[in-house]
Amino acid sequence: MHYPCKVSNPIKIQLPDGSVREVPAGTTPFDIANSISPRLAAAVVVARIRPLTPVAVNENESALEASEEAMYSGPASSSERIVGLSQPLHENVALELLKESDPAALRVARHSAAHIMATALLELFPETKLGHGPATDSGFFYDVYREVPFTEADLAAIEARMAEVVARDEPFVQILEPRDQALADYKSDAEFMKIHFIERFTKPGDEISLYRNGNFTDFCRGPHVPSTGRVKAFKVTSIAGAYWLGDENNQQLQRIYGTAFFNAKDLDAHFKQLEEIKARDHRVLGKQLDLFSIQEVAGAGLIFWHPKGGLIRKTMEDWMRDECIRRGYQMVFTPHIMRRELWKISGHEENYAENMYPPMELDDAEYRLKPMNCPGHILIYKNSPKSYRDLPQRYAELGNVYRYERSGTMHGLLRVRGFTQDDAHIFCTPEQIESEVEACIDFAESVLKTFGFEKFLVELSTWDPKDKKFIGSTDKWENAVGSLTRVLDRKKIPYRTIPGEAAFYGPKIDIKLVDVLGRLWQLSTVQFDWNLPARFDLEYVGEDGAPHQPVMVHRALFGSVERFFGVLIEHYAGAFPMWLAPVQVGLVPISEKHHDYAKSVQQRLEAAGLRVEADLSNQKMNAKIRDFGLQKVPFILILGDKESASDSVSVRVRAKGDEGSVPLDTFIDRAKKLVVDHSMEL
Ligand SMILES: [Zn+2]
Ligand SMILES: [Zn+2]
Repeated sequence: MHYPCKVSNPIKIQLPDGSVREVPAGTTPFDIANSISPRLAAAVVVARIRPLTPVAVNENESALEASEEAMYSGPASSSERIVGLSQPLHENVALELLKESDPAALRVARHSAAHIMATALLELFPETKLGHGPATDSGFFYDVYREVPFTEADLAAIEARMAEVVARDEPFVQILEPRDQALADYKSDAEFMKIHFIERFTKPGDEISLYRNGNFTDFCRGPHVPSTGRVKAFKVTSIAGAYWLGDENNQQLQRIYGTAFFNAKDLDAHFKQLEEIKARDHRVLGKQLDLFSIQEVAGAGLIFWHPKGGLIRKTMEDWMRDECIRRGYQMVFTPHIMRRELWKISGHEENYAENMYPPMELDDAEYRLKPMNCPGHILIYKNSPKSYRDLPQRYAELGNVYRYERSGTMHGLLRVRGFTQDDAHIFCTPEQIESEVEACIDFAESVLKTFGFEKFLVELSTWDPKDKKFIGSTDKWENAVGSLTRVLDRKKIPYRTIPGEAAFYGPKIDIKLVDVLGRLWQLSTVQFDWNLPARFDLEYVGEDGAPHQPVMVHRALFGSVERFFGVLIEHYAGAFPMWLAPVQVGLVPISEKHHDYAKSVQQRLEAAGLRVEADLSNQKMNAKIRDFGLQKVPFILILGDKESASDSVSVRVRAKGDEGSVPLDTFIDRAKKLVVDHSMEL
């Protein structure tokens, strides 16, 4: 290694416990771990460092990115970064030694696994040319070029050879080399992709960073785990085609995917999770439970809600409308098509046209399908003069909107071309912003809790004062962002601030829910806007008798009813809680002589407001029970001689099994309470 051996003053290393050590410049994180304890040195994977001299903080810049830029260029300007354990330190830093449990360490291990895969690949198929091999959220890939496609057997051989590379426990060693020399080496090997990356991400005269393990060297800025032996559990998972630089006129590359973990247990858990995700796929369950369909003859991305899915939707919408009204919203309805002129005023025609369907020509003018509900609500606001006493005005609509998505990008209920937003627009004075935002956040929390989500993440997107795309005065932005942060702080909701990510017309809060498998879903959003009120000349008469412009807040909580339903199906694996289940109780008379009793039980359950299906077919009892089970019906009641003689029912509970006989009235009380309480349990 040719680190410049700076004979300089000692540097200060601050450890997470606050203690500060003075060490010679050039000391590595490994040295420091080792001086604490050799056991610690063996357990750490990488280190996170932050300069002790303050630098401009850009929270948006994550320490480790999968981008090519992050892989090849010099250290990012970020205040914080991950380094390998053998990286000599030359400045005062706060140092954190990361063990295997740290997500950043896993990402480094996965990227290191990509090097291991490339090592194996070149040992077996030396003619292969390498592209790049980043870590991803679930593993890693390497883009490679080889004329002959890799077969399944090749992938198995690569995986087996990777095990050998891991067993050899080769240290990852950084080599700094003059750029010209590296380019000359790669040119002699016709490594067109490496040459491209070096030329793109480094400058003439640079020393470039290479990493070597055993006989394999790769152009990479690092960091990596200390040695190949640290990647204990991995799998080559799949292969896909990709064009070099995404251009179909270029060479066809092969992208080989894999995943890696620090131990076999985590690897197994990962594949179990993938199976679980597959078993919960809303497209599969939607068919099995007869909830919805997408019909080729009608077009892609357009959803047909079948009776059972329709019933769940009605329940969701009823709850939402009742809640809106209880919280001081007024329900409105606006047309699906409106004149093109309106979309010109709103700016959609100019800024959103690529997501809109083409205009339709009618007698008097051109019309367009609505991609958003906002202009409709604005017209209602504008229809009569408003005074400060009328504000806030909160208009809510379950509005159907149509947006163009490229064919091939649609995905079940999650990505569609027509959907229903639980949309609302609040028109208020600047002084009312804070209380309105607080009410929106309360409402969003209530939605998540009611539909069975315990955890969520909040992101606050703000402006970048230097970026000219953001409209509105500094005052406006500071006032709005201040209100948003005060609300989140007061409610003790942790959040991440993302500067520069706001829409050009105002800051926003996004709420991402966490489902039962730990996956994140972006659904609710609360968004400020001072653009549309200006475009439409909205006004209210203030206390001073003069006209003022109201602030507008767009907010959606389900987001899209279709998408939220898709998430619910996967979250519950189709086993909906009692209040949402399309059929709440299934009746199984043991034989035909119990049919009359079954009919009377059905009547009494229905009179109690429960959704009931009786199986009066001549199937065997067990077949009827199985069918209701496949439909994930919460309760199955079995009705035989004993039950009809004693006005009772024998209860089977979903996922719990047989609970024996209880009086019918007792069961009705229990079932009704579960519905009223929106209980997640049975
Ligand atoms: Zn690397
Ligand atoms: Zn809107």
